[in-house]
Amino acid sequence: MKYAVVIISIGHKNIDHIFHYKIPEGMSVEPGMRVIVPFGRGNRPTEGYVVGITDKADIDDALIKEISNICEDYTVISPKRIELANWMKEKYYTTFSSCFRCIVPKKVNEKNFACVKLNVNNENINEDIIKVLKKDTKQKRVLEVLLNGDEIPVSHIKTLLDVDDSPINALIKKNLLVKTYVQEYRGNFNSALVERSKPPVLTDEQADAVYRIFSAMDRDEKKPLLIHGVTGSGKTEIYMRAIEKVLSQGKEAIVLVPEISLTQQTVERFVARFGSRVAVTHSRLSDGERYDQWTRARRREISVMIGPRSAVFTPFENIGVIIIDEEHESTYKSDIQSPKYDAREIAEKLSELYGCTVILGSATPSLLSYYRAQHGEYELIELKHRVNNTFPKIHIVDMRKELARKNFSVFSTELKNAINENLENKRQTILFLNRRGHSTFVSCRSCGYVMSCGNCNVSYTYHKGINRLLCHYCGKTIGVPSVCPQCGSEYIKYFGAGTEKIEQEVLRLFPKARVLRMDMDTTRRKNSHQTILEDFRKGKADILIGTQMIAKGLDFPNVTLVGVVAADLSLNIGDYRSGENTYQLVSQVSGRAGRADKEGTVYIQTYSPDNYSIRYAAENDYKEFYEEEIAFRKNMNYPPFTNIFLVMLTGENEYILRQTITRLADIMKRYNKNNMFTRLGPTPAVISKINNVYRWQITVKCENEDKLRNYVLFCLDKLSKQTSLDKINVGLYLNPSYIF
Ligand code: ADP
Ligand code: ZN
Ligand code: ZN
Repeated sequence: MKYAVVIISIGHKNIDHIFHYKIPEGMSVEPGMRVIVPFGRGNRPTEGYVVGITDKADIDDALIKEISNICEDYTVISPKRIELANWMKEKYYTTFSSCFRCIVPKKVNEKNFACVKLNVNNENINEDIIKVLKKDTKQKRVLEVLLNGDEIPVSHIKTLLDVDDSPINALIKKNLLVKTYVQEYRGNFNSALVERSKPPVLTDEQADAVYRIFSAMDRDEKKPLLIHGVTGSGKTEIYMRAIEKVLSQGKEAIVLVPEISLTQQTVERFVARFGSRVAVTHSRLSDGERYDQWTRARRREISVMIGPRSAVFTPFENIGVIIIDEEHESTYKSDIQSPKYDAREIAEKLSELYGCTVILGSATPSLLSYYRAQHGEYELIELKHRVNNTFPKIHIVDMRKELARKNFSVFSTELKNAINENLENKRQTILFLNRRGHSTFVSCRSCGYVMSCGNCNVSYTYHKGINRLLCHYCGKTIGVPSVCPQCGSEYIKYFGAGTEKIEQEVLRLFPKARVLRMDMDTTRRKNSHQTILEDFRKGKADILIGTQMIAKGLDFPNVTLVGVVAADLSLNIGDYRSGENTYQLVSQVSGRAGRADKEGTVYIQTYSPDNYSIRYAAENDYKEFYEEEIAFRKNMNYPPFTNIFLVMLTGENEYILRQTITRLADIMKRYNKNNMFTRLGPTPAVISKINNVYRWQITVKCENEDKLRNYVLFCLDKLSKQTSLDKINVGLYLNPSYIF
């Protein structure tokens, strides 16, 4: 007797359920298939994955149930991907089931459309055809279209000939035509509209990079490559050469890009080169679209997949290369959803399993990647020049001096003059607010009091549309105070000027300018993101104002001026990575200026002009920035010199919460042999309360990631044996990419 070993995916419980099921007579079941099995006392039909076949049952044969059905008649997970799931489960302290949910999309019914073609099984077809063709009827016209034997969608015939169903149905009745059903793939990128392009002649730097990548690809031992190339140095062209090479070997390529730069423009560059072999995914795809694109990849009907982090799971079984563009982006890490995987780590694991090459690229590599390159774990390729060989002139403007000169505007005199000049020259300008999230807070200039929500301990955001302060965590709103609640001063300031405020100021200073604004508020609708960028590209506006949404990957040839309105805003968020984030944001946005043949100018307004991240970003000196930042990290014992595990406990009852986390701290203290682990806390989280749920945290540091993970899981297990965790929610974050 053979039994299938089935893992059942029943969500939230933090354990895997592994059961044996009998394989019914005549059903062919293999490891990697998705099945429906009766589960529990009520034999509820439940989805599961077969991970093995065995002839030994763990319980009495009579008690073992039978598999009800197979979901697909093929395996949805290859043996290598079962291995990947196994690895992910350990690394990201999660279940098989949740890993499978990343690897295989939700099962959706296929969508089919009706076609017709000549009925080749009709032995008298020739005579029958002649009969129909004799008379000038609608049936004749339909038949003529199908005479060459093609299978044509019914809907096409109807529009082409302007007929209804009746002549088609009549021909089917006469046995001349048969109806067939063809799968329609949802979510296909319409590549027919994109003109194909020829590859340009490479610059010397590019040619050198391509040569080194090709040699690395030909080696058996696969070491990831890091391309550190300034914005506009032609990294995308290099990626395309690498893809070309793997396609010529009959292999496949995955290109990861941050969601935000997954624009029409980016996709079209790949489609122009590789045509209909390219597919695109993004997070707004419906389940059906996602399933169909996954199916096309599985059937090898496409060989290049472009998408955000989830695209790393594209089911290619002959992967040649995985490219990760803008590798420093935090969006490659899933911090909220479980499994909290990092697409860069998955790519490296796939490289091990499939022997593919991993290429990371960025103008501002993450400190961790550059550190690895410095230590020989990655091969470093540097591109120091832009393809067009110009680099923008970057000016740092000291805003403290502006204040001393009684200029209270958000714009310095220099930037204001530059905008004016640019408008006169009919060139485009981007004004950028270096701001993560919605942090337009309102504060008192006299005493520094910041208006914040009592439920959530976060500052309110001012919204001009409703003229109220809004808490983005719980939704509470209050009217704008006319005097400071703390000191009574009337000097209330909307600090960190939001994009709305800048827009207002621009319209006041330059009434004739055509202005577009891009932020969370103006991009809520589907495609609005796209529309704004397209409009700006087409020259329908002179000035584009935006948050970091506009900082990345965009290529606007007519933009010659970039103003960073307040470069410090990301410096003040109390995160050890704020220097790295500031460097990245400032240099990415500067990269938007002067992309084509026109020279660019950048003004960076700041209250801390001596800060090294801002200074080195302005000098475009990554190496110096890296040296200073890495010294700081080493000195303070921050990653990459250690790993940080954040344990966040949340609950509505503050007393129980504090008691529980204190107990956890005690356990951690007891089992910390040789002081291998450094523990910080318990402390309230940065956002100490969200919607009346309290948040406390403990941070544990250790150089060895595996030991750290095991220690934390061990301590939590001890805790759960000592005390009930019913009223407490536990969140675990290994090296989280932002603060919570
Ligand atoms: P990056 O990805 O490094 O920011 P891109 O690949 O976007 O740079 O290249 C910048 C611009 O230069 C693009 O408009 C691109 O089409 C163009 N380009 C890239 N390589 C070449 C080349 N070898 N010859 C001419 N133009 C090139
Ligand atoms: Zn005050
Ligand atoms: Zn709130």
